[in-house]
Amino acid sequence: MYEKYLKSIAHKSEQMTQLTRDWCLINSGSYNTNGLTDMIGALKREFINLPGAMETVALSQARDPFMDRSGKRKTFPLGKALQVTCRPEAPIQILFNGHMDTVYGEKHPFQTCTLIDKNKLQGPGTADMKGGLVVMLKALETFELCPWKNEIGWEVFIGPDEEIGSPGSAPILLQKASSGKFNFGLVYEPTFPDGKLVRNRKGSFNFSILVEGREAHVGRYFKQGKHAIAALCQFVTKVHALNDTFPDAIFNVGYIEGGGAVNVVPDRALAHLNVRVAHAEDVKAIEKTIENLVEETNQQEGILLTCEGQLLKTPKEVDTKTEHLFNAIAGCGKELGMKLDWQDTGGGSDGNNLWAGGLPNIDTMGVQGGDIHSNKEYLLVDSLVQRTQLTTLLLMKLASKELKLEDLLCQQPAK
Ligand SMILES: [Zn+2]
Repeated sequence: MYEKYLKSIAHKSEQMTQLTRDWCLINSGSYNTNGLTDMIGALKREFINLPGAMETVALSQARDPFMDRSGKRKTFPLGKALQVTCRPEAPIQILFNGHMDTVYGEKHPFQTCTLIDKNKLQGPGTADMKGGLVVMLKALETFELCPWKNEIGWEVFIGPDEEIGSPGSAPILLQKASSGKFNFGLVYEPTFPDGKLVRNRKGSFNFSILVEGREAHVGRYFKQGKHAIAALCQFVTKVHALNDTFPDAIFNVGYIEGGGAVNVVPDRALAHLNVRVAHAEDVKAIEKTIENLVEETNQQEGILLTCEGQLLKTPKEVDTKTEHLFNAIAGCGKELGMKLDWQDTGGGSDGNNLWAGGLPNIDTMGVQGGDIHSNKEYLLVDSLVQRTQLTTLLLMKLASKELKLEDLLCQQPAK
């Protein structure tokens, strides 16, 4: 009974590919607010075809997670988010989440789409995640034609800032996830290149490390100087060694700067550190360890090391509900001839933010593709149809009660 709806998706392959191309040609780097305005306009022209109330949501200004050498953090404006709400009174409620921004700024050389073989479309955001947004749109469009649609209400939230850690979207997603309104969430990030979905995701912190020492003329007063670069390097080496102390976490000092003229003892040095944590229970221990290293450094007379940190994402560690949701999706995949599996990753997504609010979610419902965040990013064209069929079949089975929500999630949401 689902066949004709699934077939109708197969007939839209070309249309979906074209729409993905069109959206990828709009530069919507996270900092390009003009491009993001164009992108939200393009999304509205398509999402308007769905029933439901559409609105744009303004996000507050964001602060750079990292400080500069003067110890300041810049603020910058964000684009707007798109939200569509349909049948909020229906018994089953699903949150559809995605992002319209990409990692490619206005001046990035990677700005066009190329079909590099008949199934590989290369282009900025093809997989992450403009192709995924097409999947979300077409799945909802198809579902809205089926006779059981009234059983499911849905909300779409597409943010403009995921690639920079969702500074504006995260609080909104957290609020939605913890509201008790939704039974589960579906996020349209790309799968792994081999088609696997993501299971657990590490959480992520950013730290700025600023060392202030004492400037001195090298020839005359070297010993009176307090060497900021040397102190920072000792600290960085100790932080790097934490990769052995906490084998499930990642400590990456990705940026370092300091000093100036070589005949002056440098009085300032700065580093940026990203920490990824697999288990929520390790977070406290890691914070404490870093605090101790800071104290140790500050015992050196004349040296002041400041370490300012911000938790960007809580680790996502799947629970039984999420397992059941995955199993249901994998079951739909099997009927469609897809063998779906899942595996852990070190990268975060808005799935972490939904998880932080207690909402079970599968966050790789988008297209199959690879080389994301590089100028070789691609999507597999046939995955547009396959993954759209996957979401649509899940929705239809839930709405027709072939799949029971109680079995799927073990319990109803808190009302
Ligand atoms: Zn993404």
